[in-house]
Amino acid sequence: MKIIDIRESTRPIKSNIRNAYIDFSKMTLSLVAVVTDVIRDGKPVVGYGFNSNGRYGQGGLIRERFAPRLLEAAPASLLDDSGDNLDPHKIWATLMSNEKPGGHGERSVAVGTIDMAVWDAVAKIAGLPLYQLLADRYGNGQANRKVFVYAAGGYYWPGQGVEGLEREMQSYLDRGYAVVKKKIGGASLAEDCKRIEAVLKLLGPGQRLAVDANGRFDLPTAIAYAKALSPYDLFWYEEAGDPLDFALQAELAQHYDKPMATGENLFSMQDARNLIRYGGMRADRDWLQFDCALSYGLVEYLRTLDMLRDNGWSPSRCIPHGGHQMSLAIAAGLGLGGNESYPDLFQPYGGFPDGVKVQDSYVTLPELPGIGFEGKADLYSEMCRLAS
Ligand SMILES: [Mg+2]
Repeated sequence: MKIIDIRESTRPIKSNIRNAYIDFSKMTLSLVAVVTDVIRDGKPVVGYGFNSNGRYGQGGLIRERFAPRLLEAAPASLLDDSGDNLDPHKIWATLMSNEKPGGHGERSVAVGTIDMAVWDAVAKIAGLPLYQLLADRYGNGQANRKVFVYAAGGYYWPGQGVEGLEREMQSYLDRGYAVVKKKIGGASLAEDCKRIEAVLKLLGPGQRLAVDANGRFDLPTAIAYAKALSPYDLFWYEEAGDPLDFALQAELAQHYDKPMATGENLFSMQDARNLIRYGGMRADRDWLQFDCALSYGLVEYLRTLDMLRDNGWSPSRCIPHGGHQMSLAIAAGLGLGGNESYPDLFQPYGGFPDGVKVQDSYVTLPELPGIGFEGKADLYSEMCRLAS
């Protein structure tokens, strides 16, 4: 068997929202199809992948550098020992041949996107949902199809007002989410507190709010927010300072004893390890948001999970960024704490297979081969257009 083609298309996911750092007026992503010569149900198996929102499409890197490496490799060198399926680890090593270490930049996004498509193909060839394949190969064999999800939104947008924010957050609660997230740092501290208090008034018993500063704050501002946020008993305080400023994060932990979260902009096991080594993150309460689709894919994420275990962290402290089905499958297969969800944004790429309902902030994944994209009609029709 072999890979016969790798296709990439850069697609718009633009909207008029903004967080504390960027707006999304020109946001794109890369959609990738890995076409194999394996036939299932009378058709070639095609694996699909895309990168998460917040980083742009990686068409140049994928088309000029990474896809050619796989297509030029001897097909047998990319197969597992059975010879009947692709080996994601060998494929990863081939993608990363002639790449120096460090300076991860955004090549991790290009590799992560291809890696997602490879895992989708591998699970389809095996005839299994990806979460079951992962549980069998790397877990205890038992997938847990019920996964915690929270609703991420609460961006700033023109003409929103507090009423617009309240309407949005209420709609997430009405759709079954018990944890909702809003942005901070795109307005003054006083204005942000008003917006937070407006959302807190909507919450019933067992419902919680998380806030996300998108790496905007310097240390004094992060501490000022920490003091103001402490009485609110938030689900978490996310990405207060620059994602690579581990000293800031460690110092902030001295001023905020409630849960914090970060990691979505750390793109390698080595960067994640530096956060664990130097960021003062607390394994008993904090949350890690590494997103495999931005950070060299699941092959690298498996290394990150090993590193976390070696440092006393449970995979259940990981709730990845990105709101895609790949992380849902990893959560179900390997016991992560849950996954982000953007109920109204970045469609058709985010979300769940059709018919999956959120109940008490949990979804139950259907038994679809691969990652499960075929269960989401609007997404799958985009994917089919790329592969046909
Ligand atoms: Mg975030």
